[in-house]
Amino acid sequence: MSYKGPRGTYDVYPGGREPHERAGLWAFVEDRARGILGLHNYQEIRTPIFEEIELFARTAGEASDIVVQKEMFTFRDKGGREMALRPEGTPGAVRAYIEHNLFKLAQPTKLFYVGPMFRQERQQKGRYRQHTQIGVEALGTSDPLVDVEAISLLYSIHQAVGVKEEVVYLNNIGDMETRRAYVPELRAYLQRHAADLDPDSVARMETNPLRTFDSKHEGTQAVLAEAPNIGAYLSRAASEHLAAVREGLDALGVPYELDERLVRGLDYYTMTVFEAKSGALGAQDTVGAGGRYNALIPDLGGPDLGGIGFGSGVERMLLAAASHEQEPSLDVFFVTLAPEARVPAMRLAGALRADGVSCDLDYGGRGAKGQFKQADRSGASFAAIVGEDEISRGTVKVRDMASGEEREVGASDGATELLRAIGA
Ligand code: ATP
Ligand code: MG
Repeated sequence: MSYKGPRGTYDVYPGGREPHERAGLWAFVEDRARGILGLHNYQEIRTPIFEEIELFARTAGEASDIVVQKEMFTFRDKGGREMALRPEGTPGAVRAYIEHNLFKLAQPTKLFYVGPMFRQERQQKGRYRQHTQIGVEALGTSDPLVDVEAISLLYSIHQAVGVKEEVVYLNNIGDMETRRAYVPELRAYLQRHAADLDPDSVARMETNPLRTFDSKHEGTQAVLAEAPNIGAYLSRAASEHLAAVREGLDALGVPYELDERLVRGLDYYTMTVFEAKSGALGAQDTVGAGGRYNALIPDLGGPDLGGIGFGSGVERMLLAAASHEQEPSLDVFFVTLAPEARVPAMRLAGALRADGVSCDLDYGGRGAKGQFKQADRSGASFAAIVGEDEISRGTVKVRDMASGEEREVGASDGATELLRAIGA
């Protein structure tokens, strides 16, 4: 019997080939992102990776890929309740914000999360059934400057991890007033060209015609190229919001392009939407995306407050970035030349680690030659050699692995001399 990881998943393991299979790069991205988020006063939220299915279905909306393409991994618990692995981070965060009355604190509440998301999709490069997002939710305000902060944060995190050829696209898809004016016009236009649309877009034409802009179908895109633009229908509030966001982005020097055809994959977005793409990726070129959702908090039973957020895929960030990998390093490898030397070596290793020096020793029962080879392979800066002679003299021999130079140091009163010999 042999087993393989489930379709659409990957492992992170020593020597992993793809950037997202390498642990060092994950630590690098998370460190950079957490640093930047902390500097902007965002606090971490951790919610369960499964929730009631209804939470996700309701928030994503009946026209979303998550619902239309049946992307959710679902199951019934023993009580017969329908549950789903989370396809995205926003619903859980907003649910928790309401459940724990965070809206009663001084607003906004600025949250970030890092964690796995699950979507049953066809596997391709940059598209997995379990992927990881770093995301933020700034809840409890509709101030356009918080939109500026969110977009600038997304851009800064990408730049800090080295995402190449990045372009941020911005649009405003309006408030209810805008939708009331625009959506019937768009729907009527699409109905006139229904014969040239793909079946999903025909269905969405009725439920949420804005979502047809997201279609990758050529015929649909050709129809949409001539469709009425939302920009001409924006309400006064929406135009002013967009102008304020643009002014803020210009002032902060965040490069962006206005794209009046940009809509996002989730039905809950209102007003600001944005997407960061990288020219270094293939077909799956959106690294991170987000938008404002002014109806979501009240829709989930909370007060009538707005919010904005984004989610950015760590796998795609790593695929789009120049590698910043640091080779794993080890300070000291203990070479033991007699069985009685193993426990004393282990004790000394413990003393070194207590001083922040990384150590390892042989657990493979190798002979002296094999252990030196292992010391070399592990990339250790020093080998610490303990044999019968060293034990009887209460010493350790230290070899500088680069120069081959050796010296014997006392070890009977602990690791002090050893620490000095390796310059720690
Ligand atoms: P796409 O258009 O590529 O399907 P999406 O609109 O479904 O993306 P969002 O729901 O906005 O994506 O998710 C935010 C980010 O999460 C994406 O920009 C991407 O980096 C990442 N992401 C989404 N789905 C996947 C996936 N299946 N595999 C890897 N990363 C993903
Ligand atoms: Mg998708």
